[in-house]
Amino acid sequence: MEILYKSTRDNSKRVTASYAITKGIADDGGLYVPETFPSLDISLEELSKLDYKGVAYEVMKLFFTDFTKEELLYCIDKAYDSKFDSKEIVPMSYVDGAYYLELFHGSTIAFKDMALSILPYLMKVSAKKNNINEDIVILTATSGDTGKAALAGFAGVEGVKIIVFYPKGGVSAIQEKQMVTQVGDNVKVVGIKGNFDDAQTGVKNIFADKEFNEILNKSGYRFSSANSINIGRLIPQVVYYAYSYANLLANGKIEEGDLINFVVPTGNFGNILAGYFAKCIGIPINRLICASNENKVLYDFFETSVYDKNRDFILTTSPSMDILISSNFERLIYLSCGSDSEKNIKLMNDLKEKGSYEASADMKKFIDESFTGGFASEEMVSKRIKNVYDKTGYVIDTHTAVASAVYEEYKNETKDDTKTVIVSTASPYKFTRAVLSSIDGIDHKEDDFVLVDKLCELTGMNIPKAVTDIRNADILHDTVCGKDEMKDEVKKFLKL
Ligand SMILES: *Cc1c(COP(=O)(O)O)cnc(C)c1O
Repeated sequence: MEILYKSTRDNSKRVTASYAITKGIADDGGLYVPETFPSLDISLEELSKLDYKGVAYEVMKLFFTDFTKEELLYCIDKAYDSKFDSKEIVPMSYVDGAYYLELFHGSTIAFKDMALSILPYLMKVSAKKNNINEDIVILTATSGDTGKAALAGFAGVEGVKIIVFYPKGGVSAIQEKQMVTQVGDNVKVVGIKGNFDDAQTGVKNIFADKEFNEILNKSGYRFSSANSINIGRLIPQVVYYAYSYANLLANGKIEEGDLINFVVPTGNFGNILAGYFAKCIGIPINRLICASNENKVLYDFFETSVYDKNRDFILTTSPSMDILISSNFERLIYLSCGSDSEKNIKLMNDLKEKGSYEASADMKKFIDESFTGGFASEEMVSKRIKNVYDKTGYVIDTHTAVASAVYEEYKNETKDDTKTVIVSTASPYKFTRAVLSSIDGIDHKEDDFVLVDKLCELTGMNIPKAVTDIRNADILHDTVCGKDEMKDEVKKFLKL
């Protein structure tokens, strides 16, 4: 079955997967969504016999129907190789009553590697399929983790340039050091005086700037996005939901057909939306539990049906989730109103103009069938890290701790005893300061790298290569600009 994609803001046009991948975002500002959902065409039992790459192929072939088998296998082989420090790619640990799915064994030790390891290859193949001869310019706004993962994925890739914008002062010291030490002639990293939403809005405005796009095309460039709005990122994330199920089945933890829950630490709603897509293709999922930090726009939506971004932006110890506009939520909103782009446009206009919108009762019912919302305060996060460590010796990062704390509360409130996977999105070494302070109760003043050694001493957990590599690396990027000057930085880098 051929799967075509529609924009959430225009029901009239349908495009192929490869075209959607080269575009990132549709010209009308909408996000691409599959017109219909395919179904897995092998049994769960058969799926449970496959390794990660095998599951990746079975899932991606359903969505990327204009790729040949050879093309997909090429992309999958290039992506999921020894860059990952675990043969399983995504190992799972059973700790204190839940399965922790570790998505942080890639080159930048956070879950963004799962999709950004493969996106450059998907994009290369897609560009060729669509006879695109211009160089692709990737513009990316990052709350910390996407930036480095995209830089690592695209550095040195021929025919591609990449510019990453991050909120100066809004990411962890290790995250910043990872980005500003990135080597490569085709990469540029810029700090902006603003928060993540400012960076994301700035990038969206540049994409939507028709005049600027024309200038760019004349110079032999075209924009694309590596943000989680690109289906080339979303679909590869569906894989580890299917793989988790296969893994639990293979290890006799569940019977074929048993339902499982996932708890997902959420910011831009990309990760958990991939979980929903997994459910749509036939993975037996009971609840998708959306865990927010104190920027709990989504939790409030689940409580009230109102999405309201009019509130203070809070800097938390889980910065990759410090987001008030969850881009990918638009896709769920669109699906919840029966794929009606007119209705979706109206709500997105409300969001733009008033900063809020309200979902209808029918939409809310659709969403409630699959999702449950929860949130964890900074205190709950810190306590949960300590609790898990004291009880089991297992160390979790701040983002994973948001999910873990939300799950504890969910279990107490609902008594739901369905087997549950906690999606673990970062290595504790990426957020060492907050993790160590949670465990030892000390407000550390030392440099982040000193704390890395202390965390290692205390817990005996190996320091990942991604951290040792940047320790003494040179700082290659020091540009900082105002949130209204992002376009100028793009021009400078491309010499327009
Ligand atoms: C990006 C990120 C998240 C949030 O994922 P979304 O897809 O934006 O919801 C959570 N944790 C970590 C460590 C991340 O890097």
